Amino acid sequence: MTLYVATSNPGKLRDFAVANTAHISIEPLPNLAAIAPPPEDEPTFEGNAIAKARYYSSHSPGLIVIADDSGLEVDALHGRPGVRSARFADDHNFHPATDKPLSTNERNNLYLISLLTGVPLTERSARYHCVLAAARNGHLLAIGHGAVEGEILTEPRGTGGFGYDPLFYLPSHQRTMAQIDLETKLSLSHRGRAFTALLAELSQHL
Ligand code: IMP
Repeated sequence: MTLYVATSNPGKLRDFAVANTAHISIEPLPNLAAIAPPPEDEPTFEGNAIAKARYYSSHSPGLIVIADDSGLEVDALHGRPGVRSARFADDHNFHPATDKPLSTNERNNLYLISLLTGVPLTERSARYHCVLAAARNGHLLAIGHGAVEGEILTEPRGTGGFGYDPLFYLPSHQRTMAQIDLETKLSLSHRGRAFTALLAELSQHL
């Protein structure tokens, strides 16, 4: 069995490869670039992952296609930014005045810091959440959820990773996701955990 992942992101493929203890064949979906991307406008990670898996699999007859959606859920913000994680600052037109131009990730992080001003550490719990869906010929086969728990700091720490990693503190490691080594990061991956859950679910249906 080969699973075809609807992503061209090498970081995501690596997360899946590390979690693939069953040694199933995982390949990037070969014709991905030729397929117009579907809208990602569902209100939940699950909705987006399912819609993408069904869509890409309907364009790839016979193949088992995997699609994902992921992001950050902050409890004090009732689960936001959630599905809007990549576009959090843009959605709210947040453009702080600074000397140097800011990347989207930096603006997202500054916006998150501003929203959590005054929130005590005990109420800064958050998680990275990933949902994976597998589909064939447009029909959903299985889904898998994975998460990693942390806390949102008041200022960034570390230079590794991407996205919200400099603010995402792991109490168990006393470091942010941007401060831990790659091997540790891969062992904690919400995508890897979702992949493990997806494989368990898929094996019951194939
Ligand atoms: P995607 O839909 O999986 O590409 O992720 C959407 C957004 O969630 C990213 O642009 C990041 O802002 C955030 N995100 C998801 N996973 C991670 C992670 O592992 N580290 C940091 N940010 C993440």
